[in-house]
Amino acid sequence: MGKTAARRLLGALILALLCGFANRPAANSREYYESRGEIVWEVPMDEPLIALTFDDGPDEKTTEQILDLLAQYNAKATFFVVGKRAELYPEVVRREAEEGHEIANHTYTHKYFNRRVQNGDIASELQRTGDMLTELTGQPIRWFRPPGGFYNDTVVRIAREKGYTVVLWSWHQDTRDWISPGVNRIVRKVLGNARNGDIVLLHDHVEGSTQTVQALAQILPELTRRGFRMVTVSELMRHKKSQSVKLDRPDVSRENRGTSNK
Ligand SMILES: [Zn+2]
Repeated sequence: MGKTAARRLLGALILALLCGFANRPAANSREYYESRGEIVWEVPMDEPLIALTFDDGPDEKTTEQILDLLAQYNAKATFFVVGKRAELYPEVVRREAEEGHEIANHTYTHKYFNRRVQNGDIASELQRTGDMLTELTGQPIRWFRPPGGFYNDTVVRIAREKGYTVVLWSWHQDTRDWISPGVNRIVRKVLGNARNGDIVLLHDHVEGSTQTVQALAQILPELTRRGFRMVTVSELMRHKKSQSVKLDRPDVSRENRGTSNK
């Protein structure tokens, strides 16, 4: 190989490497994932149903208190469980399942997938937790919420390959209860914004805080009074309105330029 050819080859290699880095998995728009059913933020519907979701548990104290409250109002919820905490408190997870709540995957170590996490790590975080939860509850585990809500194409794809759909939360229902903002703030966020098909983000394990439990004691009676029924994510998804309204959204029409009527 001549010097010029060698240089060209080296140049091509460097370029490929650079492109490889440039092509690090990025996240597409909400419309992109939503129209494909790959990520759920909320569920369009006419019925007054709301999904309360609790992340980061189980907690040996607060999760039990939340379960008591949910039972009192005949409300069902979805728990996005951290695998290593489920190992510590398996009986709490079993109780969640036995009382009709849905169990979902929130990784094994609460790992943020916002940095250059190896694909193998994403896969094993999901697999290890999913296997454990299935064994504990006997439920198929269908939903995955990435910690911190950090996702990209790779995370979505690996989740899909493992049989999960990514579930985030309604943007107007991010209570930020994990920073302990005060009971009233949590209550106002949920009650001030409650709409059909909402997915509410709450946490059943916040170190040293019982604000979520106290807030829930006000949220549940008021939502009930307004005629809302609190259901699991799976139940919420069963009431999803037809997606036809979304067909002329910009992202979709770009993808389907040939057939779109736009
Ligand atoms: Zn979390």
